[in-house]
This record gives sequence, C-alpha cells and structure tokens, in this order.
Amino acid sequence: MRRKLVIGNWKMHGDHAALAQLLDSLRHSLSALSNTDVAVCPPFVYLAAARQQLIGSVIALGAQNLCAEAKGAFTGEISAAMLRDCGCRYVIVGHSERRQLFHENDALVAAKTAAALQANLTPIVCVGETLQQRETGATLGVIEAQLTAVFARLDSADIQRIVIAYEPVWAIGSGKTATPAQAQEVHAFIRRQLTIVLPDAATVPILYGGSVKADNATTLFAQPDIDGGLIGGASLNAEEFAAICKAAE
Ligand code: PEP
Repeated sequence: MRRKLVIGNWKMHGDHAALAQLLDSLRHSLSALSNTDVAVCPPFVYLAAARQQLIGSVIALGAQNLCAEAKGAFTGEISAAMLRDCGCRYVIVGHSERRQLFHENDALVAAKTAAALQANLTPIVCVGETLQQRETGATLGVIEAQLTAVFARLDSADIQRIVIAYEPVWAIGSGKTATPAQAQEVHAFIRRQLTIVLPDAATVPILYGGSVKADNATTLFAQPDIDGGLIGGASLNAEEFAAICKAAE
C-alpha cells in the first residue's frame, strides 16, 4: 500500500518569526503521524532555519524550485545539489505559477526534474489544466503532454522515484476544489500513463493540489488514486494543515 504524502507549499509568504512559530506548532501537532509523510517547502532563504528547527521531527524539508543547471554563472539561481546540501528531500517542479508567471515550459520542467533526481532529491512534478482547457475537453491531452515531456527525459528507474501532483490551475488559490470524482478521473489517467512507462506504476505517489482544506481533504484522500496533497494557502495555518495531514492518516 502507498503511504500518504502531504506537502505544504509556503510560496513567498512569512518571515523568520512567523514561519518559526508555524513550524513549532506543526512539530507538536504532527508528532504522532505514522502512515503519512509530511514535508514543508519554505522560501529558499528560510531553509536553513527550518532545517534546524526540524531536527528530530517527522516533518521533512522541501524547496519550491531549482535551477536545471548543476553549477556555474547563473546569478540568482539555486542548484539541486545546494538544496540537498541544505537538507532538502523534496523539490516542487513545474508549479503552475512557475509555468505561467515565469514562462517555464515542458522542456524546462523535464530538465529540472532530471536535475533534481541527479542530486537525489524527490521531485514533485506538477501538472494541470487551465479552466479553458477543461471547458474545451482538453484536460487529459494537456496532462498527457506535460507528463510525456518529463518521461521522455528519464529512464524507468528515475520515473519510479518521482512524485506527481495533479493541480488543476483553476483550483489553485481560488477556493474552487475539483470534486473527488473529477480529481480521481485525472489521477487514474495519470496512473495509466505511468503503466505505459513503468513495470510498477502502483508505487508512484500522485498528489492532488488545489484549494485543499481540512473539510474537503478526507473525501479527496479517500479516492483510490489520490495519495495525498500539495497544499498552498491552508499550509500557512498550523491547525488547518495539521488537520489535513491527519485526514491523510
Ligand atoms: C498550490 O499552490 O500548489 C496550491 C495547491 O495552492 P492552494 O492550496 O492555495 O490552492
């Protein structure tokens, strides 16, 4: 059976004091989790402080982005090896905000995924359709194209090590959640795409993201192909995020 995984994406929010307080609450409220893996992804500049605070905790550390290049003259960028060196286990790749606001295309997302794996990070590869794509019946085609670009860069041993996050763009930060049936339909499709390239597609976690809250998490996580969540807004509220993680348990 796949373990559940819940990742908090803190985006560009908070400061030292607020994030330390948030982590302190989470450390205490999540100490008894046993069937669920949890990670938080602070802004880069707070990774070191979060790492210190997480010593001895069940909560792992992740980053929100990385550079596809291994090293060199890339001012302002952060490599996969640096993230690993700072204690990260996960890194989010291809979040729709990166795709839309920073013009990251499928090829770059694939290159970042490969770079993460090379450094022994687990990439959380985000895919998802816009509202217009959903309304024109293009959802599964969009997901297939996004996945194919990533799979084409990797061998099956590497694909086996990724996590996929299905995040309908229209559901992110909008308060509109996909229904459990809508999400399950896409998750099952993603699982079928994995079976084409992998001998054991059943072990790859597929997370749902998009306005997950404590009150909708249980029904979403009960779907057969939903293995946890990528949580934005609700991960900044300790009580709400802890309740989501407990729903995954
Ligand atoms: C996200 O940014 O990955 C996300 C799912 O955000 P929210 O939970 O706020 O919709």
